[in-house]
Amino acid sequence: MKKTILGLCLISTLYSYAQKLEIIPLGVYGGGIESNLSCYLIGVEESQSYIALDAGTIRAGIEKTIEHRTFNTTTENILQNYIKGYFISHGHLDHLSGLIINSPDDSRKPIYGLPFVIDVFKNNYFRNSSWANFGSEGEKPIIGKYQYKALSPYQTFELENTSLTAEVFELSHVNPQKSSAILVRNNDEYILYFGDTGADRVEKTDNLNKIWEYIAPLIQNKNLHTILIEVSFPNLQPENKLYGHLTPNLLQEELTKLDHLSNHSLEGINIVITHLKPKGDQIKIIKQELESNNPFKVNYIFPEQGKKIPL
Ligand SMILES: [Zn+2]
Ligand SMILES: [Zn+2]
Repeated sequence: MKKTILGLCLISTLYSYAQKLEIIPLGVYGGGIESNLSCYLIGVEESQSYIALDAGTIRAGIEKTIEHRTFNTTTENILQNYIKGYFISHGHLDHLSGLIINSPDDSRKPIYGLPFVIDVFKNNYFRNSSWANFGSEGEKPIIGKYQYKALSPYQTFELENTSLTAEVFELSHVNPQKSSAILVRNNDEYILYFGDTGADRVEKTDNLNKIWEYIAPLIQNKNLHTILIEVSFPNLQPENKLYGHLTPNLLQEELTKLDHLSNHSLEGINIVITHLKPKGDQIKIIKQELESNNPFKVNYIFPEQGKKIPL
């Protein structure tokens, strides 16, 4: 009997060890370099089943994963079989152009998004005047390769052909323009990904604060260990020229609220900085500004294209 219990414990330990989430970036910047724009594959380790969180760059990022030996297979296999679907945070080109350009070579799969994102695909991109309609609705002829899955905020849904579930939240990206975030869940493990967003004070909204309130218990319980969030500009960027983005100081302002709501549980949490705009020496400055002022002792991570993020 003792042996059985010990065996079961061992199996369950191995099981939970094997079931961790991983993130592999196919693109990390928020503009400028067209071969390296926002796209993060999220899935359970070894499952070869991923959801792409945004899709600014696909093929050039896949090729980097092969170059860095993150994956050991063909570009076509990763594009068609590893990527089980896309979550698109908002309609800007740096978040979806890779999906559109690669659509003729892709396989059938869903596109998840809030209704305003699905509308951008239907009304702007998957139209005969700009491309062919690879979507499942809209202008005829409808090719129907991508099934639109219109989501509702704060409602749990399943990510098809994976073991993951998720919830999405609305963000403000130059009010009244919107963007969105997604909270991905695998068993009792969570990762939160933000599309482009401004700070609540600058955007005159409470979208971020509502998310902080919602996730604070998950942070306290250590179920949520990683947040991917944008910092597009250094602190010098004037607040009236942020175009719905964050600076290191504004991220700090938001984290201060989360720290308070989570009863000071932020120490050691992974904050993956996305969407850096690679102009001049901005990236160097942003990294310095984040690391030189880190009162909550979070673990800042700067992701690299094609390399698994060390979580
Ligand atoms: Zn962007
Ligand atoms: Zn944007």
